[in-house]
Amino acid sequence: IKLNKVKLYDVLIQSIEMTNHLLEEKNMELTLSLDEKVEVLGDSDRIMQIMMNLLTNAITYSSEDTFITITIGKDHKYGYFTIKDQGIGIKTEEIDRIFERFYRVDRARSRNSGGTGLGLAIVKHIVEAHHGLIKVESEVGKGTAFTVYIPLMNS
Ligand code: ATP
Ligand code: MG
Repeated sequence: IKLNKVKLYDVLIQSIEMTNHLLEEKNMELTLSLDEKVEVLGDSDRIMQIMMNLLTNAITYSSEDTFITITIGKDHKYGYFTIKDQGIGIKTEEIDRIFERFYRVDRARSRNSGGTGLGLAIVKHIVEAHHGLIKVESEVGKGTAFTVYIPLMNS
């Protein structure tokens, strides 16, 4: 990966444009709380790949007419973004496994939704290449939040 100054806001807007048709299909809406100034040291194409994977998952594993909340912020070391859905959630004992290649929580059901189970393995790989972190909070039947931390431009 090639590291450059990346404004998370700009990459997010592009990622939303690319996934907007999926949101419309399910009549889902976004709630945005964005610090537009946050700049990280990253590869914008790769960060877009992370955002699109997480957004696609948030849409796929939610029912129609629900909301996705997206936050961009920073702490002393990292710029971060959170993508939080009101979807099916993930059991605690499954959370560690979802980052494994080809792992899918509900094999029978997810066969119909057409994925391969590689999305989050790729996400984790890209996050680690940035010396970043990824955190998951989830409650079955309530929803899931993924937060990705990428080192700040000036840290
Ligand atoms: P693809 O390769 O197309 O992304 P996938 O979505 O099944 O296929 P991952 O993105 O790696 O694969 O996700 C792995 C599994 O983790 C999913 O099959 C699903 O069971 C679970 N999962 C991922 N994101 C969410 C989410 N936001 N809510 C609930 N479950 C999720
Ligand atoms: Mg996926």
